Amino acid sequence: MSPPDSPQLSLPLEEFYTRLLVPTIGRSKRVFCNRNLRMHHIAWVGFDMDYTLAIYNQAEMDELSIRSTMTKLLARGYPSFLTSIPYSITFPVRGLLIDKRYGHVLKMDRYKHVSKGYHGFRELPKEELRELYHAKKVRAATPRYHWIDTLYALSEAALYSAIVEAFEQRGLATDFGRIFHDIRECIDEAHRDGTILNAVSSDLPRYVVRDPDLAPTLHKLRSAGKKLFVLTNSHRWYTEKMMTYLLDGQMGEYPSWRNFFDVTIVAASKPAFFQERRPMMANENDALKPAQFPLERGHIYQGGNLADLERGLGVHGDQILYVGDHIYGDILRSKKDSAWRTAMIIQELETEVLAHETCREDYVRTEQLEEMRERLEDELRFYQGRFKELTRRIEQNKGAVDLDAERVRIKRALERVRGRLKQVDVEMGMMERRIDLRFHPYWGSLLKEGNEQSSFGAQVDEYACLYTSRVSNLLAYSPQQFFRSPRDEMAHEIG
Ligand SMILES: [Mg+2]
Repeated sequence: MSPPDSPQLSLPLEEFYTRLLVPTIGRSKRVFCNRNLRMHHIAWVGFDMDYTLAIYNQAEMDELSIRSTMTKLLARGYPSFLTSIPYSITFPVRGLLIDKRYGHVLKMDRYKHVSKGYHGFRELPKEELRELYHAKKVRAATPRYHWIDTLYALSEAALYSAIVEAFEQRGLATDFGRIFHDIRECIDEAHRDGTILNAVSSDLPRYVVRDPDLAPTLHKLRSAGKKLFVLTNSHRWYTEKMMTYLLDGQMGEYPSWRNFFDVTIVAASKPAFFQERRPMMANENDALKPAQFPLERGHIYQGGNLADLERGLGVHGDQILYVGDHIYGDILRSKKDSAWRTAMIIQELETEVLAHETCREDYVRTEQLEEMRERLEDELRFYQGRFKELTRRIEQNKGAVDLDAERVRIKRALERVRGRLKQVDVEMGMMERRIDLRFHPYWGSLLKEGNEQSSFGAQVDEYACLYTSRVSNLLAYSPQQFFRSPRDEMAHEIG
């Protein structure tokens, strides 16, 4: 291959060479691409803060949420035995649907077909799922259902299942909708009244994982001429405290976190930020005043909206890449209501990708079994046709001994094929179970369901241009990287 020294070819070849480096990056640390994205065209990179720049210790956060919620439930008159019931913070995953009418927790594929479900910790049999959810389309957007789509909300599902289980075991009359409603209110209250934020901010090392590669990643983007902004729903005091912890003093050239970012917007009220025209405010001498345009470098603004931000930054739509973790608030809304490009942070992706790798042999075997089943089904249809044909001829020619013998032979063949089909089905079921267990003991893969995308995976596929497990994975890529999407299959399964 000739070196990239011919002037008219230098740009595309540069992109090509950076792409050649990608296979050396471990799969769990890669940036996967659903829609082609040339970083060269991106002028501004914006970041959400919580669960994006700030990686939380999920187990500690879940425990804190559950403890705070439990205290508030007891204060509302819930029985005191709740404090000692078993719960599992590993039970829920993102993308689950709560059916408040029956107290079930469900997983769906991209066609809203419910494929797995639990009531408390009891797995719902297929027949029960079929009866409840397959005859009519599940209307996930109605008040009967609640969609668990953030890591914050996992504790709600964990607590809900535990309480449903405990009430059922004690034979207590249960209003499943009421319980969920109360849990939601108590968690919201624990956020609003500062129970959770105060606990986190007073012990950041316990709740937040500081990523040593975050500062170098931001620096690399800045060095390539990108401008950076923060757009978070968190309030100013919390944002300042968190960002200081994450970035201050991490790199000599940047004494303060503010040096990394051209603009910071707090209390943004996403997703309303993308849809409504709220005023953008600036803090001057401890008083909030309407922001002046253009926005000033290093300043912290509050609220506002998409149009003001674009005006303030002096760029439009597809020159902005927004990195966030919330499929609805960050990714779906910015995609639907603007031309922003999107990158989604999916912390679970590291486990997901590793699980996928350990299943390679099982996937090969599953494919063999699928082919075998297809062949057997062909054989079955052939023998069934032959059997029918012989029966018809026997009825026409009563007493034809040779036809009778042939029919007996076909009948045996039919039984043999049916037996082998059954074996194949049993083995396929075992394979499916084994694959699921490598991903997650209750729900299997986060992004897939059987051969389909899960409903969560489908949203990632549809709305996230890029997806990766953490912001600092970008460090291994050129800031001018041309991210290319594969065809058909999801990005994390290729290669
Ligand atoms: Mg977030």
